[in-house]
Amino acid sequence: MTNTARKQYDALALLSGGLDSILAMRTIMDQGLSVLGLHFVTPFFGKPHLIPFWKEHYGIEVIEVDIRSKYVDMMLDGPSQGYGKWLNPCIDCKITMLTHARELMKQYGAKFIISGEVIGQRPMSQREDALNLITKRADVRDVLIRPLCAKKQPITPMEESGLVDRERLHDWYGRGRKPQMALAKEYGFTEIPTPAGGCCLTEAQGAARFVKLLQEKERPSPNDFSLARVGRQYWAGNHWLTFGRTADDNAQIGACIEPTDYVLKTQGFPGPLAVCRPLDGPWEPEVIKDAAALVASYSTKARRHFDETGELIVIRVKQGDSVEDISVAPSRDNALPWAEPMAEIVKGWKKDQLEIDG
Ligand code: SF4
Repeated sequence: MTNTARKQYDALALLSGGLDSILAMRTIMDQGLSVLGLHFVTPFFGKPHLIPFWKEHYGIEVIEVDIRSKYVDMMLDGPSQGYGKWLNPCIDCKITMLTHARELMKQYGAKFIISGEVIGQRPMSQREDALNLITKRADVRDVLIRPLCAKKQPITPMEESGLVDRERLHDWYGRGRKPQMALAKEYGFTEIPTPAGGCCLTEAQGAARFVKLLQEKERPSPNDFSLARVGRQYWAGNHWLTFGRTADDNAQIGACIEPTDYVLKTQGFPGPLAVCRPLDGPWEPEVIKDAAALVASYSTKARRHFDETGELIVIRVKQGDSVEDISVAPSRDNALPWAEPMAEIVKGWKKDQLEIDG
């Protein structure tokens, strides 16, 4: 750590990478104020690999802010305002991000925080009462400005003091996207990002994967959630198997491997990288073999070779420093009832949570 002074900014902005967050930031920058975008990363959302593109294309400054642990704790403790349609705790999500942004203000010398919400744009988190609740619970009433709908909101201390010119803020309301598209055109953006996007808590499949994990492990770690997000997910009781569908999936799975995981790889044929994560002690050899047979069935070339020659397929199983090769017949008709989590489990789980919370 050097003693180099950290660059100071007038404001910090919540920067999801969606169009609204970019426009909110640029609206304040237009007033000659310096703004640093905070791109929050959790196991459920965050695209830090796009930061260089955003900087270049949208002319903004952005840093990655890792809040994996804090966010997972919020999810595990139960979001105070509940969930949206699937597993998205949008109100508590915003509270978590704003609280964190407030904590960062001092080190960046920032005088206020920017958020790109528009009143009435989203059913759960952008109703007026929800916006007020978020502001209050995050304790940012005196420092938060929402430039896209500011003129529909009470005047803030930043406008009162003249730091921000209220006349140059917007009065947008509701779900329409016309003003956003017009302003994006004015700025000369040729790539228009989706309004928000990329949060797998709002998707049926994502929610089912995380609920299954929550049913099988009392307090999953951020890394567990990261693994649950990627590739194909199969469960047989509390036996959890993940494997990739693409090279990118395989790379993400590789980044999640822990020393106690069994890592499976087809030998001699291209095939997915697979991880068996033990939640309740070591797996029996026959369970690993059953998982390996399923994994081998997703290697087209290995399956064809077996069908044509009857020769078993070798799967290398690594756990920490130990390595063992096992031979299997590729199969999706397995001894264990491997199945992908279904969206139906989400509703029941959410109902149970409400009953537990009383
Ligand atoms: S959609 Fe996802 S990222 Fe956006 S507020 Fe809701 S939970 Fe947070």
